[in-house]
Amino acid sequence: MKLISIEDAIKLVKKSAKPIGVEKVLLTDAYGRVLAEDLKSGFNHPAVNVSAVDGYSVKCKDLENASKENRVKLKLANIIKAGIQNPMTIKHNETALVFTGAPVPVGADAVVMREDVQDLGNEIAFERPISQGKNIRFVGEDFKKGETVVKKGTTIGAAEIGMAAEINRSYLFVYRIPTVSIIPTGDELLDLGDSSPGTSAIRDSNSYTLTGLLRQAGAKFNICRRLKDDPIQTAQAIKSELERSDIVITTGGVSAGDYDFVKKVAPEIGVDIVFHGVLQKPGKPILFGRYKNNKYFFGLPGFPVSSTVGFLLYAYPLIRTLGGFADIELPRIQATLTEDFHRKKAKREELARVEIAYSIKDGFSVKPDTKKQGSGILTGMVGERALMDVPIGVTDIKKGSKVKVILIKPISSFSFGFF
Ligand code: AMP
Ligand code: MG
Repeated sequence: MKLISIEDAIKLVKKSAKPIGVEKVLLTDAYGRVLAEDLKSGFNHPAVNVSAVDGYSVKCKDLENASKENRVKLKLANIIKAGIQNPMTIKHNETALVFTGAPVPVGADAVVMREDVQDLGNEIAFERPISQGKNIRFVGEDFKKGETVVKKGTTIGAAEIGMAAEINRSYLFVYRIPTVSIIPTGDELLDLGDSSPGTSAIRDSNSYTLTGLLRQAGAKFNICRRLKDDPIQTAQAIKSELERSDIVITTGGVSAGDYDFVKKVAPEIGVDIVFHGVLQKPGKPILFGRYKNNKYFFGLPGFPVSSTVGFLLYAYPLIRTLGGFADIELPRIQATLTEDFHRKKAKREELARVEIAYSIKDGFSVKPDTKKQGSGILTGMVGERALMDVPIGVTDIKKGSKVKVILIKPISSFSFGFF
């Protein structure tokens, strides 16, 4: 096993990865998807000058000398509702009542709010001047014909959906969501509800952890049948899943054990091994390969923390890239270490489990959880936890130091009091 650095492994994963395709979705199904086209408008918005208020459209010049003492009276020439097609005209010393969204008549250059005038029946009295353009929403002020209103690569949220509706799009082209097959391996694995045949059997938690991680990454998934440590069954399952999914993820069977068959059969069925083994802790024996032109294979180690960390470091950015997302990486932040960190060996880059907190005054702070560092200790990942990046060659980090931390879930999932 030739070990490479985390940095090199991430580069190899990202190399030549690109969005897997485009599909058409209904506008109402587009939330959370990534736009695969520039949205351009075929018209100006507003299409004509419209009123921003209910009020009286005027020629500003007519009100130049208006005051409380010297009220200016204009003849009410028209009443204009929203949705009217042919804009009207006002002449010198005339006004037209316009409702919000109604076209401002030709010749008017401001609208006085209804509340600020006196309605005298056929005439309207004004008590003060008004500045040009006031209370008018001008043609094209939101967007112009031909303008790109939402850029390709934008994750579609509520405003983007509304924007698409404004330009009359009932469907959108978005990047296709990668599909992932999860294959757990190991003779010892039990599914939820299975009765245990003996004390060494364990629940297959990895498959379920992965469903959460895949949702976090934005992928679709299916959990396959648990595999026994059997080379023929393993080879068949991986191959058939590679044919139907974009990515196949196995857990277990990639270390040095006699019954670790994943690493053995993967190259035999045509997986081109890109790397097997990374100078990292936990998750050293991780395997990554490519299949045919556009399929990917991850052999994650069996231990729950190892497989989770392996996923977060490599599968997460790959899925985000294939799905066309703009934010490919998990959030990486700087935090202050609140206790001394020590480790005996420094040959591997370590992603130590830390408790994380946040305050406006001190920003992020992390505390190493010395009792929860084992690869099989999933409790070290539960709740307000993160991964502190300890570089190769570093055995000690002093309390108070600034450290690099990877957030293992979206920032909104932590219970930090940000305000
Ligand atoms: P392996 O990488 O196959 O040697 O597995 C290492 C250890 O990880 C096993 O002894 C199990 O304790 C654990 N393990 C393997 N697969 C799973 C799984 N699907 N869920 C939880 N733990 C697992
Ligand atoms: Mg195993």
